[in-house]
Amino acid sequence: MKNQIRVFKFGGASVKDADSIGNVVEILRQHKDDKILIVVSAMGKTTNKLEHIVAHRKDKEKCQNKLNETKEAHLSVTQTLFGEDQVILDVLNDLFVEIEWALEEEHEEYDFIYDQVVGIGELISSRILWYALVKADLATHWVDARDIVKTDEVYRESRVQWEETMNNIELKVKPIFKESNFAITQGFIGSTNENYSTTLGREGSDYTGSIFSYGLDALDMSIWKDVPGVLTGDPRKFNNVVKLSKLSYREAIEMTYYGAKVIHPKTIKPLQNKNIPLYVRSFLNPEEEGTYVSADVEDHYPPIVSIQEDQTLVHISTKDYSFVAEHHMTILFKELDKLRLTVNMMQNTAISFAVCITDKENRSEDFCTAIQEKFATRREKNLELISIRHYQKPLIESLKKGKVILLEQRIKETVQFVVKDFPLMERV
Ligand code: ADP
Ligand code: ASP
Ligand code: MG
Repeated sequence: MKNQIRVFKFGGASVKDADSIGNVVEILRQHKDDKILIVVSAMGKTTNKLEHIVAHRKDKEKCQNKLNETKEAHLSVTQTLFGEDQVILDVLNDLFVEIEWALEEEHEEYDFIYDQVVGIGELISSRILWYALVKADLATHWVDARDIVKTDEVYRESRVQWEETMNNIELKVKPIFKESNFAITQGFIGSTNENYSTTLGREGSDYTGSIFSYGLDALDMSIWKDVPGVLTGDPRKFNNVVKLSKLSYREAIEMTYYGAKVIHPKTIKPLQNKNIPLYVRSFLNPEEEGTYVSADVEDHYPPIVSIQEDQTLVHISTKDYSFVAEHHMTILFKELDKLRLTVNMMQNTAISFAVCITDKENRSEDFCTAIQEKFATRREKNLELISIRHYQKPLIESLKKGKVILLEQRIKETVQFVVKDFPLMERV
């Protein structure tokens, strides 16, 4: 039986400054009689800034300057919202000291330090929103997601340990709603069994929302965005996109898998498994309906386009001209999995195999190094992967214009091509 808890996830754009936080408080006020678990991301581009700080941590001065800048930006928001209120200032100061300590840590694994630092962005934003709600007489319980979401020890792309996490939700989160209508927690972060902080991968807060939705048997989940809902393409790249009012779980999972950046690809499965509906709604126009994602089957969709950047095509071949056989695939996929690299497209011939991967921080190089004893490799970098669901021929032609097609695949509903821009000389 379902209880009445709803999950609202607010992304970075919805809490980017004092006005935006005020807007979120007003949205929640409209729902003050509902029981809501609020999941919040770091404010604005904070995660990018913290990422930058970790990357330059050896350059102490630069790092400290950037950190001061980030701290000032947050303090200016709290100043606008709460004046010189000491309670919130103390909380924020402690969190920034935590960042400084984490940066000092002597640990050879970069990804470990990254996770100890970067997730603090969410601790800060959730404290600010929590305090804004309390000050607006909307009693809210603050929950540290690291006490709830347990993960493995692969830092930066940690995988959730479901049994333990579900247990924690049952024992530590559900009871809160007997006393309070609202609870707030952080997206993106978790912790290992030894209580070291971990992160679920960039943009992972949507996924956190669905982990909690699953554990709470939520009535529904809403993701609040700066767009009216899920659109037929990224409005930053195309100007003729339209909103999709309804989507099946299947369509949503397919389009996010192919790179529609509006929802994290891991978000749908937990919701589908418990038949929990998802709403993607605009925090700018909260009364509008947005997109409704559910088990209902829709039989007609317009073409939906996703573009993934930073793609690398890795061509792999056996050194002795032997066929690329199943046991080779096992070796290759084991290495890809170890590096948590996702294969977006692949193709094989007799003695070669090509994979298209999202190349985070040049991890394709680590992959090639890991397999170099057995395989010869060649890489083509800085490519784009264009995917069109429910494609129509004229659209394919227009998207191909000015591009060199390196790989193309068509299946029933989807066409995908890996492209690079024409070199200037060939354009004439
Ligand atoms: P937040 O982090 O605040 O939750 P994001 O910036 O990660 O939000 O995601 C929202 C952005 O996703 C939109 O501003 C839009 O540019 C982009 N986007 C990409 N593809 C789509 C799509 N198919 N539908 C809607 N928005 C999309
Ligand atoms: N703050 C994290 C990021 O920017 C997680 C999220 O926003 O979903 O990647
Ligand atoms: Mg985001």
